[in-house]
Amino acid sequence: MERATHPKTRFLRVKCVDCDNEQVMFGSATTIVKCNVCGRTLSEPRGGKAKILTKIVAVLE
Ligand SMILES: [Zn+2]
Repeated sequence: MERATHPKTRFLRVKCVDCDNEQVMFGSATTIVKCNVCGRTLSEPRGGKAKILTKIVAVLE
């Protein structure tokens, strides 16, 4: 994965709607991202992009 050179690389700060844990995830994650605390699925791959299934707190560029 060439994430370091990808022009649209962004990171998202997301908040788990179940336990309020905040964590940073890769905005184009192509794998399932789970909450580090409770294991809830926060994002899943959809059409080559990340489909965010929880609350986005901030977009980090
Ligand atoms: Zn959680």
